Amino acid sequence: MNVELNAEPRAVTRGLVRASYEAISLYSPNRAPCRIDLSDNTNLWGVPPSVRALLHSSADSAVTRYPRAYADDLKRAIGAYLGVAPEWVVTGCGSDDVLDSTLRAFTEPGETLAYPDPSFAMVETFARMNGLAPLPIPFTGDFDADADALLGSRAPVIYLCSPNNPTGTILDRRTVERIAREASGVVILDEAYAEFADGDCLDLLSKSDRLVITRTMSKAFGLAGLRVGYSVSAPNLAKEIEKSRGPYKVNSLAERAAVTALTEDRAWVAARVADARESRARLIAELVSRGFTPLSSQANFVLVPIPRAELVSVCLRERGVAVRPFVALRDIGDVIRITVGPWSMMEECLTALDEVQSCE
Ligand SMILES: *Cc1c(COP(=O)(O)O)cnc(C)c1O
Repeated sequence: MNVELNAEPRAVTRGLVRASYEAISLYSPNRAPCRIDLSDNTNLWGVPPSVRALLHSSADSAVTRYPRAYADDLKRAIGAYLGVAPEWVVTGCGSDDVLDSTLRAFTEPGETLAYPDPSFAMVETFARMNGLAPLPIPFTGDFDADADALLGSRAPVIYLCSPNNPTGTILDRRTVERIAREASGVVILDEAYAEFADGDCLDLLSKSDRLVITRTMSKAFGLAGLRVGYSVSAPNLAKEIEKSRGPYKVNSLAERAAVTALTEDRAWVAARVADARESRARLIAELVSRGFTPLSSQANFVLVPIPRAELVSVCLRERGVAVRPFVALRDIGDVIRITVGPWSMMEECLTALDEVQSCE
């Protein structure tokens, strides 16, 4: 029986699944436990203190009862955090869920999703999951979005990410503004790392009726394991995204934790963001002094061009440090992406990198 269950299922699924699913692989970065994990851009300073207290004191009803269908308390807390009305907010099981729902709401299968390349790897997958043709468009020389090419695609959805994962670079706000003004369809601006940047584009929401900005509780707020993300957009767009998302996507404990962090621990988060920005500057300086050419970063990670990135990451892992390698990124080549954390972790990473470089 077990042998049957383990058999290659391809022959059975062909013809049953959407044709576009042939091109989708399960997400599988190397997540084997590692002493120092600098691979996924989460908050390495830990969990907001109010959230730890909440998780230890939650009532049984947070487990036995259904959550609110559309997380109204969380929408209010996010609205207060960003200075927008709750009707502008859609929550989800991570911002991944909101991105996926947004694509589905504003496209028909067979249409195109245009985005600058290289950017968030999941976007191509979400395109295929929704039957869309991914259209990656190279950045301009200074990592700005190619507005002419993106707008020229006339894609029903254009995806932008700033600060951009994996480069850490930001888009020129005039470019974002122009795309949000001139696009024929919806423009998603993924601001997962906005808290770490010098500024954001939230104010552009008042100038565009087609802009959807997504954010997450997974990075600066340290709640990646609870899976909470959200979008902010004009209420008529928000309503459609919410239809596409469906009810009950944020679980009760996650909603309460996110509300608690947003109301009680903003100062803690701001202090950790300041720590991250300081570590980031120091890490970049140390890398430069070693002859590396890290990209300038407005996020909580640093992208470092390095030959044979995959091999380097295996060697770093052997020394207890996990980073994320990317092979042959367009116009950049092989790189490792290092999440910024407390300086002691950065020192261990640099020491491991020195060892790896010297044994080549
Ligand atoms: C991490 C990340 C997200 C996803 O975050 P979740 O809210 O945890 O789903 C979205 N966009 C970018 C660019 C990211 O790096």
